[in-house]
Amino acid sequence: MEFDTIAAISTPMGEGAIAIVRLSGDQAVEIADSLFKGVGSKRLREAATHTIHYGHLIDPKTGQVAEEVMVSVMKGPKTFTKEDVIEINCHGGLVSVNRVLQLVLNQGARLAEPGEFTKRAFLNGRIDLSQAEAVIDLIRAKTDRAMNMALGQMEGRLSRLIQKLRQEILEILAHVEVNIDYPEYEDVEEMTHQMLLEKAKYVKGELEQLLRTSQQGKILREGLSTVIVGRPNVGKSSLLNSLVHENKAIVTDIPGTTRDVIEEYVNVRGVPLRLLDTAGIRETEDIVERIGVERSRKVLKEADLILLVLNYSEELSEEDRNIFRAVEGMDVIVIVNKTDLPQNINLEEVRELANDYSLVTISLLEDKGVDQLEEAISSLFFSGAIESGDLTYVSNSRHIALLSQAAHAIDEAISGVEIGTPIDIVQIDLTRSWELLGEIIGESVHESLIDQLFSQFCLGK
Ligand code: GDP
Ligand code: ZN
Repeated sequence: MEFDTIAAISTPMGEGAIAIVRLSGDQAVEIADSLFKGVGSKRLREAATHTIHYGHLIDPKTGQVAEEVMVSVMKGPKTFTKEDVIEINCHGGLVSVNRVLQLVLNQGARLAEPGEFTKRAFLNGRIDLSQAEAVIDLIRAKTDRAMNMALGQMEGRLSRLIQKLRQEILEILAHVEVNIDYPEYEDVEEMTHQMLLEKAKYVKGELEQLLRTSQQGKILREGLSTVIVGRPNVGKSSLLNSLVHENKAIVTDIPGTTRDVIEEYVNVRGVPLRLLDTAGIRETEDIVERIGVERSRKVLKEADLILLVLNYSEELSEEDRNIFRAVEGMDVIVIVNKTDLPQNINLEEVRELANDYSLVTISLLEDKGVDQLEEAISSLFFSGAIESGDLTYVSNSRHIALLSQAAHAIDEAISGVEIGTPIDIVQIDLTRSWELLGEIIGESVHESLIDQLFSQFCLGK
C-alpha cells in the first residue's frame, strides 16, 4: 500500500522533560535528514535501522539551529506501522515540540489524523482490528485492571479465541458441504448432523461465555457509576473526599500515551468507581426530600453502586427509611458514620433494613472503618470470576454487539438442524456467524467503519 508521510507529537501535551515527534512513511527518513545536522557529516539516510543519533535540527529558512535533538531511525517493516519511522526526541515544552513539528510539516510531512499511526499499523497488516481497538482502550485505561485487560487484548488474546471459533465454524461448513455434495450417503449424513450439532453447540457455548464476561469488562473499563446518598449532614461530602484522597485516581504511565484528565474517578482496590462529580453529589444531597421518592428512585436506578450513609449519633428517621425504599433491589452498601459520637441509632433496626446489603460502621472524622468500607466495595465486585483473572474480557461495545449477533446466528443454525431445515439454509446462518466474528478482528469490515473506529484515537497514536 502507498501512503504519504505523516507526523504528530506522540507524547502528552504539557511540560515533560522530553517530547517526541513521530513520523511514519516513505519520506520519513528523507524529511528528518533534510533538517538534521549530526556530529561530523553523518546522514540519517545512511544510518542503520534502529539506531539513535544526536544532533541539531537546522531551520532551512534561516540556517539557524532550531533544536537540540536525538533522532531514532527505524526502517520498516520492523516498526509499529511497518513503514519507515522517525522519532525526534526534543526538549519538552510546547514551544520546542511545536517548532519541531512545524519544521517537519514544512518539509512535506502531513499532520496525522487522530489514530492514524495505529490505523496504518492495521492497514499494513501489523495488527488486527481488535488489537487496534485495544490501543484505544489502553490510551483510556484508568486503572491497572483495565490496563491489563487492554494489554491482554492487544496481545491478541481475544483475536486468537475468535480465530479459533471461526476455524470451528469453517469445519462445520466443510461438513455441510460434504452433505450437500454427497446426500446419497446415509453414513455421511449421520455423521454430519451429529458433528454439526456438537461443534455448533461448542461454539455457541464459547460465545456465551465471552458475553457473560462482557458486563464485567465494561465495568472495569468505564468504572461503576456510584452515588452517595443520605440525609443532610450525615457525612456524604466527607465520604467523597475520603475516597478521593485515599485512592487517588490512577493515571496510566505508558510512554507516549495521552493522559486523560479524570474527574472524580477513584480506584478502590482495583474497583474503578466513577463517583458523581462534586456538583452531582451536591445535587443529590437532599434528593429524596427535594424531588420525592418516585423521581429520586429513577435517578438512583442509573447507578451501579449506592453508598447509603446513616448517622450513628441520631435515631433512624422516616427520611432514612425512605432512602432505603428508594434503593431497593440495587447494589447497596450501608454506611453508619460518626461512630466517634455517642450512639443513638438502633443498629438492630439498621441491620433489618439493610437485610443482605453489606453494613459498615465508620468514623470519617477519626478515619476509622474506611478499610472495611473499601473491603466491602471490592468484595462486592470481585467475589466472582474476576479475581481468578484468566478469562478473556470483552469490553468493547462493538465487540459485544457482534458477539451476540454471532451467537444468535449459531443458535438459528442449531435449531435449524434440530427441526430439519434444509441444510443450505443452515449454511447461511453459519456463514453469517463466521462473517460477524470476522468483523471483530477486522477481516470483513467496511472502509467507513474503519475510519470511524480510528477517529476515536488521540492525536499522535
Ligand atoms: P453531608 O451533608 O452528608 O455531605 O455531610 P458532610 O460531609 O458535609 O458532614 C457534615 C458534618 O459532619 C461536617 O461538619 C463534618 O465535619 C461532620 N462529620 C463527618 N463525618 C464525621 C464523623 O465521622 N464524626 C463526626 N463527629 N463528624 C463528622
Ligand atoms: Zn455535603
